[in-house]
Amino acid sequence: MNKLLTQAKKFNVSGPRYTSYPTALQFEVAENDPALGLYLEERKKRATSLSLYIHIPFCFSLCWYCGCTKVITKNQDRGDTYIDYLEKEMKLLTGTLHPDSITEQIHFGGGTPTFLSPPQLLRLGSLLHRYFNLAGTLEFSVEIDPRRVSTEHIDAIVEIGCNRVSLGIQDTNTDVQTAIRRVQSFEESARITEMARNAGIESVNFDLIYGLPKQTLSTFKKTLDQVISLDPDRFAIYSYAHMPSIMPSQKLLNEADLPSVEEKLSMLVHAVNTLPARGYNFIGMDHFAKEADELSIALNNGTLQRNFQGYSTRPELEMIGLGMSSISQGWDFYTQNEKDLSRYYQLLDEGTLPVKKILTLSEEDLLRRRIIMQIMCKGEILFDEYPLHNGLPFSERFSEELASLAPFEKEGLIQLSEKGVKITPDGRLFLRNIAMVFDEYLQKKIHQNAYSKTI
Ligand code: SF4
Repeated sequence: MNKLLTQAKKFNVSGPRYTSYPTALQFEVAENDPALGLYLEERKKRATSLSLYIHIPFCFSLCWYCGCTKVITKNQDRGDTYIDYLEKEMKLLTGTLHPDSITEQIHFGGGTPTFLSPPQLLRLGSLLHRYFNLAGTLEFSVEIDPRRVSTEHIDAIVEIGCNRVSLGIQDTNTDVQTAIRRVQSFEESARITEMARNAGIESVNFDLIYGLPKQTLSTFKKTLDQVISLDPDRFAIYSYAHMPSIMPSQKLLNEADLPSVEEKLSMLVHAVNTLPARGYNFIGMDHFAKEADELSIALNNGTLQRNFQGYSTRPELEMIGLGMSSISQGWDFYTQNEKDLSRYYQLLDEGTLPVKKILTLSEEDLLRRRIIMQIMCKGEILFDEYPLHNGLPFSERFSEELASLAPFEKEGLIQLSEKGVKITPDGRLFLRNIAMVFDEYLQKKIHQNAYSKTI
């Protein structure tokens, strides 16, 4: 068996994706917690650079594999109501920001942002321009469902400043699409990619998923070949996480149609082996980008970041989530909005920021977050960069964790030296596993059954 495939099988355990550390499972109910008020008061005193995430929860139909926070409806008027409430949230939020704070990044995610009609998208864009100071170099990305997008949608998002799009393709095989109830032709995805480029969109990302029902290595190879021919700038190739007890819509899938673990991992290994040969760097986790793409440049410069949207190139941004279920991230603070739509509306009607959960990071959390993010983004830990802790250098402070890295060293996935830990090119497939060694909550066995498989 291929060496990488054998290693993928060996390390295919459950674990976090580390878009944050600690993960959202550690957040606690915010009600009556004074920490939030104190944090907002502090935030107002200093001008910061912001990254805004806007969650649009609506979808016209249910994809059976879905694990997102969404509301299925065909009633497009619900978009108007939702934007009314987003405006209420923006008004409350801007009261907690320093007036000189600058927004450098915007991302529309979902659900389906293109559920909104072109006029609704224009209105949402004009609200963002009204309530926030947008940087001239704004990076503005929108997730697109190729089944629900018209020329007018593309024109509208470009008009409000969007310069990046991400197309949810998942798989081009008709049997797979039928099994997951998400049918869209390859020609449609090709047409929308061309439409976006012609409208001036600078960067196009494709999302694919491996491990879906009816997928085989052979169908996946064909999907990958087809989509590479459209020449996107980036790929995100996600592992399908089958967790029907947590994501009820997945109960609709026929489990007998799921590929075996070995077949599934062979798809990932195929992607990892194929994409670099076709001009895409393996950034880490599920992400690939062309050599000239900002993600590749950031990886090479050591400035790559990781946040709730995956990998990012802009350091030191404060993340602000708007909309139901969205997550915000300050320096030592995470908050999550109410996940229930009517309760989200109710809190805004009461004139309250719709925050449901919070987590204040301890000194230990901050230290471990730094280590885990360096593993995920830089692929190395340099011991000298960490100050002594109670008089102990990194190698003694984390001696148990470093000893736990032995299986990765034995497989040639990391190099351990007195200076630090360096992840080898093959080891980039196992970033989650290596980061897990430094996760204090996993060590304490908190929530460890709630995560997807790492590979
Ligand atoms: S996968 Fe996307 S489009 Fe499909 S139901 Fe989930 S959020 Fe909606």
